[in-house]
Amino acid sequence: MRILLVEDDDDLSRQIRRALDDAGYTVDAAEDGEEGHFLGDTEPYDAVILDLGLPIMDGASVLKKWRSDGKVMPVLILTARDSWTDKVEGLDAGADDYLTKPFKMEELLARLRALIRRAAGQASAQLECGPVMLDTRSSRVTVDGSPIKLTAQEFKLLAYMMHHTGKVVSRTELTEHIYDQDFDRDSNTIEVFVNRIRKKLGVNILHTVRGLGYQLDMIEG
Ligand code: CA
Repeated sequence: MRILLVEDDDDLSRQIRRALDDAGYTVDAAEDGEEGHFLGDTEPYDAVILDLGLPIMDGASVLKKWRSDGKVMPVLILTARDSWTDKVEGLDAGADDYLTKPFKMEELLARLRALIRRAAGQASAQLECGPVMLDTRSSRVTVDGSPIKLTAQEFKLLAYMMHHTGKVVSRTELTEHIYDQDFDRDSNTIEVFVNRIRKKLGVNILHTVRGLGYQLDMIEG
């Protein structure tokens, strides 16, 4: 899952980036509203964390512009003041949720998980596909209850697929959602990751759809 973070406070941005990285997300960060708007406009994100008080273009304007251009990704706004008018303005601009600074990183992660889950039509924090379970809270994967050790990239790929069970996902889409903007993307490496994941899981749930991409079995867990 790939997240856009738009936050002009260096320290806070670094803390959030580290927490997101530890939780297994891919992160692009912008420090002003203009750059943030551009990234959200041109790259596909699974969710956005958007500060309202930003240089060049304020967060509410960024959000209104995205929404009027038909961008529907979930957006969590950060507001510095505990002011109800900020929250109302942000929600009216098209935000899905808000968080008032200062906040606990755990709360930010929980709200983000909920937004991503809702956008993917998933009700539970534990994603299941047959014997495979991915816990979005602990970033752990098990098969029949036994823990499976995945690398960060393998986890990102599986997490994206588990959020889109039953859907045919192209290599390009996977590439766009597991690498950040600075990564030298090569969609051929996706095949390598998929094969490693298959081997590690030991169960055949990740299928190749010839010429189109990959599909995860739609099995009720
Ligand atoms: Ca700010």
